[in-house]
Amino acid sequence: APEPQADIALIGLAVMGQNLILNMNDHGFVVCAFNRTVSKVDDFLAKEAKGTKVVGARSMEEMVGMLKKPRRVMMLVKAGSAVDAFIDKLVPLLEKGDIIIDGGNSEYTDSRRRCAALKEKGLHFVGSGVSGGEEGARYGPSLMPGGSPEAWPHIKPIFQSVAAKVGDEPCCDWVGEDGAGHFVKMVHNGIEYGDMQLICEAYHLMKDVLKMDNDEMSAVFTEWNKSELDSFLIEISANILKFRDDDGKHLLDKIRDAAGQKGTGKWTAISALDYGMPVTLIGEAVFARCLSSLQQERVDASKQLPAPEGPKFKIDKPAFVEQIRKALYASKIVSYAQGFMLLREAARQFNWNLNYGGIALMWRGGCIIRSRFLGNIKEAFVKNPNLNNLLLDDFFKAEIAKCQESWRQVVSMAVTAGVPVPAFSTALAFYDGYRAARLPANLIQAQRDYFGAHTYELLDSPGKFQHTNWTGTG
Ligand code: NAP
Repeated sequence: APEPQADIALIGLAVMGQNLILNMNDHGFVVCAFNRTVSKVDDFLAKEAKGTKVVGARSMEEMVGMLKKPRRVMMLVKAGSAVDAFIDKLVPLLEKGDIIIDGGNSEYTDSRRRCAALKEKGLHFVGSGVSGGEEGARYGPSLMPGGSPEAWPHIKPIFQSVAAKVGDEPCCDWVGEDGAGHFVKMVHNGIEYGDMQLICEAYHLMKDVLKMDNDEMSAVFTEWNKSELDSFLIEISANILKFRDDDGKHLLDKIRDAAGQKGTGKWTAISALDYGMPVTLIGEAVFARCLSSLQQERVDASKQLPAPEGPKFKIDKPAFVEQIRKALYASKIVSYAQGFMLLREAARQFNWNLNYGGIALMWRGGCIIRSRFLGNIKEAFVKNPNLNNLLLDDFFKAEIAKCQESWRQVVSMAVTAGVPVPAFSTALAFYDGYRAARLPANLIQAQRDYFGAHTYELLDSPGKFQHTNWTGTG
């Protein structure tokens, strides 16, 4: 038999798999391609991979035989049972110390289960978040690998060379144990929901309060993209706003205002509820999509439910635009602070040693939420790896202080004008709640004790629970 020659096998020749193979090939790695429908292997070798060093296998046995040891097998297949089916077929063909990587959008709970099951068989499992879509896979994705730490030295050279780069730094580092990579990918997607909703609220205010047209708003986003808000999502929003259809009219105005979702934002909100973390902005972003999709109901209600009278004074347009920018920025800081709170709590629950600065760097480039701002988050965690909350970092404290008044005025104006800003306002409510030494939960505790004898603690004797007979009867 010939010497094994391939550095890694990649199973799954849909768009993501093909592109990542070509990316690995560009960086000098020999990849063995495989797919459930084997004819796609030949098609790929004959077309997209023609003239490259990519090799193909027509069976799993052949594929495994082509791999250098420890063998590295990566899957980019449909999340769910397809991943388990391939793992079941791989296990008898592999030997101790070999590595199975799942780069699909798997649920972190599945990755935890797979990691534990494979560990018992002496195999190393890696669940890796892959972000950036087709373009990212081809030219530099954000990669968030987690799982068996023993696997990392063996996959690090491949992963870090194919990943997106910011300067010289790869947007890929080891995230943490078992399901940590997929958990971080999930939170990334949740944050993406939040960022998109924040931009939509800014758009809504400029459109309905300031009555700006699409080209004007596009110019504003282009300006914002030179500020702290410099990011992929602001950039594409500027392009979308000015885009004209074949008939010369703005395409955006013709698009039905009912947002779809694939579920990863919802998963983030569900884990926030599961772990008791107030990740309110992502939650509101998911609900905002739900409300948007009740489109017909909204159209009907719009004919019956009265609007407020609206502001009674003339608004200074440039000044208000700048206030909206600051409101967006402050809300975004809160959203990321909440996302990292969820990461911290998951790390505590599952005993993960999460690399927070590394996570910010992984999101800094290559993915949908890439932005300049993530560089500041990385710096905050480099300065203090034990930072308890991003809002308490000196840089972010100062940034919020600069934005605070504008943020409050924007939310007030939105309320007066009747424009919904659930993400701006929940971020502000969170900020005010988080900085409150005393909240009204003393009354909740009293009520719970009153009707259900749930007991309460006194401020001056914490840990000691007592019940009061509030009515003096019974
Ligand atoms: P996909 O459409 O999600 O999946 C197609 C691939 O999965 C094909 O190789 C297909 O094989 C295989 N497959 C489907 N069901 C199977 C089963 N029951 N048993 C074995 N193989 C099965 O492909 P994709 O869009 O390239 O995405 C791959 C993974 O990356 C997914 O988990 C996706 O969520 C994730 N992802 C996608 C993007 C994106 O922008 N598309 C971005 C990040 C992450 P056949 O050819 O034989 O049908």
